[in-house]
Order: sequence, then C-alpha cells, then structure tokens
Amino acid sequence: MKAHVDQEGCIGCGLCSEICPDVFRMNDDNLAEAYGEVTDENMAAAEEARDSCPVSVITIE
Ligand code: SF4
Repeated sequence: MKAHVDQEGCIGCGLCSEICPDVFRMNDDNLAEAYGEVTDENMAAAEEARDSCPVSVITIE
C-alpha cells in the first residue's frame, strides 16, 4: 500500500514523520512526503500518523 501527502495543505508540524518515520519524512521545504512503502509492519503507525495529522492531508490506499 502507499501513503500520500497532499503537500498543498501540509503545515509542516512534523507529527507524521515522528510517528512513522518508515513512511514519512520532511523535505527541504519542511513539508511532509511519503517516501516509504506501507507494509504490514508499519501499517499501524502509518494509520496513526494519518489519523493524527491536524489538517487531514494524509491518505493511505
Ligand atoms: S502530520 Fe500532516 S501537517 Fe503535520 S507534517 Fe505530517 S502531513 Fe504535514
């Protein structure tokens, strides 16, 4: 599965990359990007990151 961040709405809080660094990282503009595959191992953390995003710009599909 893949995660996606709509960077237009990201406010750069860093929460997703803290909760699930396997999948999310901050880029040079301090916007989150989903760089990693969502796997069975990190799925729970990836979903927690999605659900914790204060502006709800993360999707997983
Ligand atoms: S949790 Fe949401 S707002 Fe915060 S860095 Fe991640 S995508 Fe951006």
